[in-house]
Amino acid sequence: MTCPEDDCDRPATVELHIPWADNRTVCAAHARVLGQQDGVVADPKTERGDDLLEDER
Ligand SMILES: [Zn+2]
Repeated sequence: MTCPEDDCDRPATVELHIPWADNRTVCAAHARVLGQQDGVVADPKTERGDDLLEDER
């Protein structure tokens, strides 16, 4: 599964829980950007996703 964002082919490893929209699963990079919005919770779905979030913080 790859990230559904435009022009992005990284693996989707983080599920975003978005209060005003359906949950979506995106790559770590997009999760970091989208996760900065109020109320959004980023939930890494794999150990690899967790690692990516840690590495890129
Ligand atoms: Zn992405």
